Amino acid sequence: YSTAAVVENPIIPPVDVKYSKLLIDGQFVDSASGKTFATYDPRTGDVITHVAEGDAEDINRAVTAARKAFDEGPWPKMSAYERSRILFKFADLVEKHSEELAALETWNSGKLFRQAAKDEIPMFVRLFRYYAGWADKIHGLTVPADGPHHVQTLHEPIGVAGQIIPWNFPLIMFVWKVGPALACGNTIVLKTAEQTPLTALYAGKLLHEAGLPPGVLNIVSGFGPTAGAALASHMDVDKLAFTGSTETGKTVLELAAKSNLKPVTLELGGKSPFIVFADADIDRAVELAHFALFFNQVSSVIILSLVIGFIPQKPDVAKEPLFYGSRTPSNEEGQCCCAGSRTYVHESVYDEFVEKAAARARRRTVGDPFKEDIEQGPQIDPEQFEKILRYIKSGIESNAKLECGGDKIGSKGYFIQPTVFSDVKDDMLIAQDEIFGPVQSILKFRDLDEVIRRANSTRYGLASGVFTKNIDTANTLSRALRAGTVWVNCFDVFDAAIPFGGYKMSGIGREKGVYSLDNYLQVKAVVTPLKDPAW
Ligand code: ADP
Repeated sequence: YSTAAVVENPIIPPVDVKYSKLLIDGQFVDSASGKTFATYDPRTGDVITHVAEGDAEDINRAVTAARKAFDEGPWPKMSAYERSRILFKFADLVEKHSEELAALETWNSGKLFRQAAKDEIPMFVRLFRYYAGWADKIHGLTVPADGPHHVQTLHEPIGVAGQIIPWNFPLIMFVWKVGPALACGNTIVLKTAEQTPLTALYAGKLLHEAGLPPGVLNIVSGFGPTAGAALASHMDVDKLAFTGSTETGKTVLELAAKSNLKPVTLELGGKSPFIVFADADIDRAVELAHFALFFNQVSSVIILSLVIGFIPQKPDVAKEPLFYGSRTPSNEEGQCCCAGSRTYVHESVYDEFVEKAAARARRRTVGDPFKEDIEQGPQIDPEQFEKILRYIKSGIESNAKLECGGDKIGSKGYFIQPTVFSDVKDDMLIAQDEIFGPVQSILKFRDLDEVIRRANSTRYGLASGVFTKNIDTANTLSRALRAGTVWVNCFDVFDAAIPFGGYKMSGIGREKGVYSLDNYLQVKAVVTPLKDPAW
């Protein structure tokens, strides 16, 4: 592993931090208290900069601005076509500034630069264009009611949306929340994760440059129990959308209920099963399971490869030069809510699978995410880092077999060895809890009914993967698995139009696709008597 070089000689990101204050009513302002907090480079643990720290009073200011922009306009009253044009223009601006945004994303979150630049920024732009396209296609119905009445429905924006997002995909989470809310004509107060405040502020600046009126999008950097809780419990916020841990999801749902009963959508944790049947191509299954666990979003090259059935065994050296190196099938370090974190393998291919999975993990390169040929960067912060190490310890203590990894790397920054456990049992903590790190757990199964029961015996239901050549097995599993997504012979295939969300304690509601619009619309029934019922 090449982390020593990171600590001694980290690559200097090609970007300055331009925006670090709160964005309220179209202006960058200090927090009311004047307080700031440090934001860090996970490669080294060094401070990048200090950002304004918002708390309840700043949330109040932001909600007041959003309320005014909603009640007095122009945003909800603007023509849908105008709103759409601003969102399209913003997408163009992001493309223009994509290198800076990607560098800032990597610097602040530790995710691979290639991934940010080549996958996530293009996905961000694609999603904004998708929502820009929806803005002028939202309309109600005429309803054939019994009796002499003309009945129609109006699909109206809800009002001020409060949105709380996590650190694992700062920009992607921004668009999943902000895109549909704006397309539907709402105004927003966004609370970013305390670990990763920087790229949202930059994107907020570009949205205003594209013509977004002041007060429509307000961004408050700050901590959960202060700024986040103030937003969730605010009496003048009409809707809450949250992505994060299941535990915090429960807290914000309670705060919303206890204040003004604002509707809440939640995208929470997962412990997704990845099921490999005996008829699978084992080499391919090993590679897929590796991606499903260790990566948080497979590069588009890889998604395509998985779908068409070709898996590159080695990094696919770039045909087009990229800022710091070649394009590789790389990604970050298991920090994904839909990670395939319970790998169930049929007993007849289990030994071969385990051996190859461990060999693949041992080949995984860990180091500076700005560098070429690196597949895994650091974890986000000391808390996550320590938590993952505790889970690894718990796996060892509960007698799962440690096939490789099992420790941190180096003494600075938050790097962890790609770790594989075999002989994992369903009741072990590593098979039950969301670890959110590079720790693969492999479990053995015998038959179809058994694996369905075991895959479903979790409090989560976010995603799942099925790997088989048998169409009947695939169809049965697709219906039997209680999860918001079933990926068959692929994993982590994301697209603007594909809905995403959880069953059970993985969440409430869906994001992306047409379903996400429902989160930000009210339906109003309008009934008028007909003068001449015969017509
Ligand atoms: P993680 O463990 O992944 O950091 P969290 O659920 O704690 O997940 O954080 C996700 C988001 O929720 C962050 O923006 C965080 O600041 C926010 N948050 C944390 N605690 C609270 C809380 N009590 N009320 C509102 N938001 C919170």
